Amino acid sequence: MTQVVHEIKEVREVLGQWRKEGLSVGLVPTMGYLHAGHKSLIDRAVKENDRVVVSLFVNPMQFGPTEDLNTYPRDLEADTKLCAASGAHVIFNPEPKEMYADGFCSFVDMTGPTAELCGKSRPIHFRGVCTVVNKLFNIVMPDKAYFGQKDAQQLAVIRRMVKDLNIPVEIVACPIVREADGLAKSSRNTYLNAEERQAALVLSRAVRLGQGLVEKGERDTHKVMEAMKACINAEPMAKIDYVEAVDFQSIQKVDAVENEVLFAMAVYIGKTRLIDNFIINIS
Ligand code: AMP
Repeated sequence: MTQVVHEIKEVREVLGQWRKEGLSVGLVPTMGYLHAGHKSLIDRAVKENDRVVVSLFVNPMQFGPTEDLNTYPRDLEADTKLCAASGAHVIFNPEPKEMYADGFCSFVDMTGPTAELCGKSRPIHFRGVCTVVNKLFNIVMPDKAYFGQKDAQQLAVIRRMVKDLNIPVEIVACPIVREADGLAKSSRNTYLNAEERQAALVLSRAVRLGQGLVEKGERDTHKVMEAMKACINAEPMAKIDYVEAVDFQSIQKVDAVENEVLFAMAVYIGKTRLIDNFIINIS
């Protein structure tokens, strides 16, 4: 059975008991409305740890003033079922005031890897992400924490934060889970109407196109990006926010495909902003 707790002190009580018993702990941070992508992280955490905590928290601090904080989908009952089916032990589902008490004024603010990609179009986003993930690490003190490659920049940012701030947690990266037709699973896919859902396939089509070009030997990131952009622009309902190639560690733009390169995109389909990416590792 999965226990649902809302308060930090409840998490600490459970964690204290597990620690006394010498059990290892995995953490899967999420914003809820769980799908098969989240489930892949939870299943892996259950395999690799004695106990697993899944956090469900739509973190107000990482949403800009014109973004979808208030409409973000939520379903605690369905999420609890999914966590129970995976064998997760605890769901931590705090209210914003539990995480940000009156007078809250301490933040984790990163430069470097947060400057490009989503950091450009969502200027306060990663400050919110780093602050909340740092808090979750301090509350749960997990041995391992699980993040999806779906949010590849977030993964690089969290890895950097853990290194820079000497946080004793192992970050585990999990591959992107897709729908049968290629669309990357996302809680935000529920915003799409039938026509937009069809148009949204342009993201995974561009990913496959770009990946194919690199696999065939193209090493000029600009040529790959141009082909991906042309593919996306051919879809009338799509509007590109960005298509970029960056070093996967530093998240700085690169001209040539060498070492580990992240090709990432954010595309509006109607009002819904979707992201997708692929990573090429040439060593
Ligand atoms: P979110 O609830 O969107 O904040 O996502 C929580 C975690 O699940 C993040 O580490 C995401 O990268 C990961 N995630 C979301 N969608 C997918 C997906 N389609 N495949 C793999 N991981 C995902």
